[in-house]
Amino acid sequence: MENSPPLLSKSGFVAVMGRPNVGKSTLINALLGQKIAAVSPRPQTTRKRQLGILTLEREDCSLQAVFIDTPGIHQPRYKLGELMNKEATQTLEESDLVLFIVDGSQPPQPEDTLLFNLLNGLKRRVPIILALNKIDLLQSSPEQTPKGVDHQPRNDHRAAYMENLPQAQAVAISATQGDNLPELLETIIANLPEGDPFFPKDQLTDLYEREIAADLIRETCLNILRDEVPHGIAVRIDQFTERGETGALIEATLFVERESHKAIVIGQGGQMIKQIGSVARQEIENMSGRSIFLQLKVKVRKNWRNDEKVLRAFGY
Ligand code: GDP
Ligand code: MG
Repeated sequence: MENSPPLLSKSGFVAVMGRPNVGKSTLINALLGQKIAAVSPRPQTTRKRQLGILTLEREDCSLQAVFIDTPGIHQPRYKLGELMNKEATQTLEESDLVLFIVDGSQPPQPEDTLLFNLLNGLKRRVPIILALNKIDLLQSSPEQTPKGVDHQPRNDHRAAYMENLPQAQAVAISATQGDNLPELLETIIANLPEGDPFFPKDQLTDLYEREIAADLIRETCLNILRDEVPHGIAVRIDQFTERGETGALIEATLFVERESHKAIVIGQGGQMIKQIGSVARQEIENMSGRSIFLQLKVKVRKNWRNDEKVLRAFGY
């Protein structure tokens, strides 16, 4: 038998950057093939750093990309916003590679400019991949597209973005349709440094299951309550108990800022909290692959968003 050469091993931390709602969580989930990051049609669902870990064993190399899903850059309105900005900057400085996601169906927005400035001001030179997402929303124009070439110039505003980040490598994608995701993955791999994996092969995220459960409950609240309780819900997991064969028991408290919000969250005859509980339970079961018994309580905690102690207690 011939001796095969030692496998090339690559690994690194990929900071996933982008303003709210451009599709960061959707893209990480698509690359990982499993629901980890909270995805919501509303911005600001993702409040904490979340790691998604992609481990591939290929013939030519073994590879581990650790995705850090950072909160977007916002104009700080609350203390919470300031915490998120600090965290985003720190994430960039620690990473091996930046995956900068923009909405390619729109020209650059003011919030993108904040990110351009942040990236261009970095002391360390980190490779940047610019993912022009949501190209499924664009019509291809027949005159521009050469025959037989599929993903060619639809107007994905590439030039306008590249003007601000000339050092970036751009790939046009659709996270929801899966367009060009293999190309994006190859670009990521090409830019990862050589190194051994950081985490065991079968690990998908370093978030504890209970933190993911809290995110899923919060996400469900935002989706079901829409604008009725704006940004005013924090979720604390009070208990997460294994029940052997039968699954797990989760007890959680939803904190709102006002009595009036509490009434909305509970709903008439408790019908709203029941609906939230049943959708959230389903989501947690999908994530954890076993049956879950979920119990929710609602409490009022005034101004939790501006109270640093409370934010810390909730793990922000
Ligand atoms: P995040 O705030 O950047 O993490 O954004 P999300 O991943 O939560 O996505 C925000 C919204 O954009 C959701 O409604 C997604 O379904 C939608 N979205 C994400 N990627 C695409 C895409 O490639 N095409 C389209 N049409 N919608 C997308
Ligand atoms: Mg997100």
